[in-house]
Amino acid sequence: MIWEKKSQEEIKDIVFKALQNNVNYDKENILGLPASYLDNKVFYQDSTFLKEAPFISTMVQNPNHIGCHTLGKSESFFSGTQQIEKELIEICAVDILKGEPQQQDGYVASGGTEANIQAIWIYRNYYMSEFNAKADEIAIVCSDDSHYSMDKAANLLLLNVFKAAVDNDTREISVESINQAIAQAKAAGKKYFIVVCNMMTTMFGSVDKVEDYVAAFSNSGCEYKIHVDGAYGGFFYPFSEEQSTLTFANPNITSFTLDAHKMAQAPYGTGIFLIRKGFINYANTQQASYVEGEDYTLIGSRSGANAIAVWMILMKNGPYAWHEKVFILLKRAEWVCEQLSQLNIEYYRHPKSNIITIKSKYISEELAHNFGLVPDNHHEPHWHKIVVMEHVTIEKLSLLMEQLKQKA
Ligand SMILES: *Cc1c(COP(=O)(O)O)cnc(C)c1O
Repeated sequence: MIWEKKSQEEIKDIVFKALQNNVNYDKENILGLPASYLDNKVFYQDSTFLKEAPFISTMVQNPNHIGCHTLGKSESFFSGTQQIEKELIEICAVDILKGEPQQQDGYVASGGTEANIQAIWIYRNYYMSEFNAKADEIAIVCSDDSHYSMDKAANLLLLNVFKAAVDNDTREISVESINQAIAQAKAAGKKYFIVVCNMMTTMFGSVDKVEDYVAAFSNSGCEYKIHVDGAYGGFFYPFSEEQSTLTFANPNITSFTLDAHKMAQAPYGTGIFLIRKGFINYANTQQASYVEGEDYTLIGSRSGANAIAVWMILMKNGPYAWHEKVFILLKRAEWVCEQLSQLNIEYYRHPKSNIITIKSKYISEELAHNFGLVPDNHHEPHWHKIVVMEHVTIEKLSLLMEQLKQKA
């Protein structure tokens, strides 16, 4: 366990020491980088409050975390803060997702979209270089409730997507619905599969049974790799479901996406990509010759302050407070479900999730607008969701319940 709660003083100490190990544009002669501190006419470095503010200080010093820091060499100019990102990746892979120490690579991507595309890009190249596969023999398989980033990835990487149907009420895929997707793909000449398994979907919070994918694909006789999309659920489900099989302890899974900018309340630009060692090299761009250590990521230059923010959030809370936070949100979600059941309002909720998705026939346009309820489809809504975040208190939820009661 390297994830241990730290005091504000300890956190400050570690971040400021890391910044000291980065390049100092004022004191050293650094003539060759297209980089500097943020424009000091706008962002003053000597402001006294910065001494108490490690994250803002990092933003102002603006380290570049270009590349991947869990393998080989990286840009030595920013090695201080890159070391903290490396520790953050290890916490996510080992302490949260039960990987073996030092056996995963990863980086802080711009978001879940990039992390999912990165995974699919890696597996596409893996099939092309290890199996001599042609792009049109490789397909993505996910579910009808998967995020649209899989469609983006398919479009960019010239792959087709085949989606397993979900049950309208349980939101579950099944071995049969996966088999149907595989049959369609095979009929279209596909032989190599990139499977994306949901660890909490965006609209429903539903969780795919990875065992269903494994069962269907082991019978198919085809090559497959499983990526888990935990963009929404990555900082929630591993805490709400202790028995989760969506971890690195499951040998069928090769990679994960986790977004810190959703449930972890980190700044935007903090999608976390994690993959078992031995795979990220399929995304290596050797032509990135001016970058020390080359580039194994999709994005290129990226802000080191983002990694520092996520690390600080995890360290300030520690694992026990994180469990407590998740527990409280689950309790509130249960409260909502009890209220809805009493009113005979139909909804979906996965028992380990903080999303409650209500059938739209119970939700007027006015109610959705007044309470910021988000529809599955803005043109023709079937469902509206409540996401129980930290600010979504029982006090606020009960105002919605009062309105629903009056309509019922
Ligand atoms: C939000 C989300 C994404 C996309 O993440 P961004 O950070 O918005 O790019 C992907 N998958 C799921 C399940 C999500 O909820």
